[in-house]
Formats: sequence, C-alpha cells, structure tokens
Amino acid sequence: MFALEDIETVGVVGAGTMGSGIAQVSAQAGYQVRLRDIEEEYLDRGFETIDDSLGRFVERDTLSQDEADAARERITGTTDLADLAKCELVIEAVVENMNVKKEVFADLDDVVGEDAVLGTNTSTLSITSIASATDRPERVVGLHFMNPVPVMSGVEVVIGEKTSEGTGELVHTFAEELGKETWEAEDKPGFVSNRILMPWINEGIRALDEGVATKEDIDRGMKLGTNVPMGPLELADHIGLDVCLDATRTLWEELGDRYKPAYLLKRKVEADDLGKKTGQGFYTYD
Ligand code: NAD
Repeated sequence: MFALEDIETVGVVGAGTMGSGIAQVSAQAGYQVRLRDIEEEYLDRGFETIDDSLGRFVERDTLSQDEADAARERITGTTDLADLAKCELVIEAVVENMNVKKEVFADLDDVVGEDAVLGTNTSTLSITSIASATDRPERVVGLHFMNPVPVMSGVEVVIGEKTSEGTGELVHTFAEELGKETWEAEDKPGFVSNRILMPWINEGIRALDEGVATKEDIDRGMKLGTNVPMGPLELADHIGLDVCLDATRTLWEELGDRYKPAYLLKRKVEADDLGKKTGQGFYTYD
C-alpha cells in the first residue's frame, strides 16, 4: 500500500470536463500526470481546457506564468492505457456508464502495479460494483471532484463495501495535498452530493416543463430565494445534461420515488425541531 509521499505519478482516465480538471490540479500540486483518452482529438480538447484554465489563473495573478508552464509540462497525454503502468494512483473520469467503467477498471487492474490505488470520479454509480471488475477491491475508492475542478474546493470520498481504511485515508490526504477539503460518504446511490442535488435539479426541470415560471425566473427564484450561486437550470447546463440524466436515472432505479416528504422531515416537525426558529433542526443553534 502506497503512502502519500510514495505517489509521484497520477494517472487520469478520460480527458473531458472532469478528467482535464483533475489532471490540471494534480499537476499544479507537483505530481507528474498521465492523461488518457480514447482518441487524440479528445486529448486535444482536454489540453485546450487545461490551457484556458491555467491562462485564467495567470490573468488573475493566482498563478505565475512559470508555475502555469511547469504544471502544463507535468501532464503527458496518451491514448495507450499501458502508459499508466507506473502510476501509483489512477483516477477514472470516463462517461457515467457502469459497463464502460467496469471495462476501464478491469484493464487498469492488469496494467498498473499491484499496490496502485484506483479512484473513480463517478457521480452516482456503485463503487463496490465498479471495484468488482478488479482483483483489488480494497484499493478501489470513490474520489468525486466537483465541477469546475480547478475552482471548487470540495472532494467527496466514497468508501465501497471492500475499500480498506488505508485507501480511504490515502485519498483524503491526496485531495488535501491538492488544496481541497473532503467529506466522506458510504457507497449509497448518489452519495451525499448528488443524492440531494439531482432531485433539486430534476424538480427545476419539471417546473420549467410544467410552466411554473420561465427558465430565467426559476433560476432567479432559487438564487435570490435560497442564496445559491446558480439556479437548477443554469447548474444543469454547467454539469452537462447527459451527466444529469445518467445520474438521475441511477437514483430513480435505485431509490424509486424520492418526492414524498422524507420521513425524517415529518418526524422532526412532529418533535418541533423546526430549525433555527426553534434552535434545533438538523443542526443545533444557540
Ligand atoms: P465528459 O463527457 O466531459 O468526458 C468523458 C471523457 O471520457 C470523454 O473525453 C471520453 O472520450 C472519455 N472516455 C470514454 N470512454 C473512455 C475510455 N474507455 N478510456 C478513456 N477515456 C474514455 O464527462 P465528464 O463530465 O468529465 O464526466 C466524467 C465522470 O465524472 C462521469 O462519471 C461523471 O458522472 C462524473 N462527474 C461529472 C461532473 C460534471 O459536472 N460534469 C461532476 C462530478 C462527477
């Protein structure tokens, strides 16, 4: 099992929205990065995203030109998975499809060293199921970055049925090394983030479909009304509607009708735990 200081080269599989960001922040933290996609054109697109993002950091003086150039030089693109053989940690960010992810993990399991840790950036799929495609389920873990990766400070660590404690600890410290803060979730559909976010987005889409308000007023209402930086429709566009559909389908298949008031909500109201106004809700207020 690798310790944080043993990690020199990070592999990233998938150079799309998330993979390009994960490659960038890993390189900015000083790691060598091997970024793999299936076609050169997808790699080129990934590098364009990285160049744009690094350029914006330089413009805003968050990064010097030298630091940006050094980070960029640490990332090598490849279409050959075998080039990830020496990576101590590989993070998968391919399409949100269980069959594709299992295939990638089975191939990675053959290619990387025995001790290497494999992380998946899946939004909703079961870590345990993805890990079952390998002979190292104890070294498979959810490492769920938020979009856009170079900007968002949070990373969700998801512990599969067989993920070892050491693997969980390693990826928490790895994410912290990248300057992120982490939280941990069990391997239950959608984990913390998407289990709660996706029904919110889905309801925004239904409200639009059912003529409740214009798309602008739905987003404006949620931003002004609940103090979130983006409304559901704007955020869905930002995430990618295909990603939202895949994620929502998984939640629907696994959890069924999530629109009934949660039982816990009813019980807390009956107990007069109404939130800030009574000093006790999900949190305690003095
Ligand atoms: P994307 O469509 O932008 O990128 C996916 C990339 O994977 C593409 O470049 C594609 O060519 C590549 N790919 C497909 N099969 C591959 C294979 N076998 N080997 C290597 N590369 C392959 O998708 P994305 O938005 O970056 O999402 C990637 C993962 O991250 C998904 O699991 C998604 O659910 C998750 N995620 C997405 C977001 C988001 O906001 N978009 C946020 C958190 C997590």
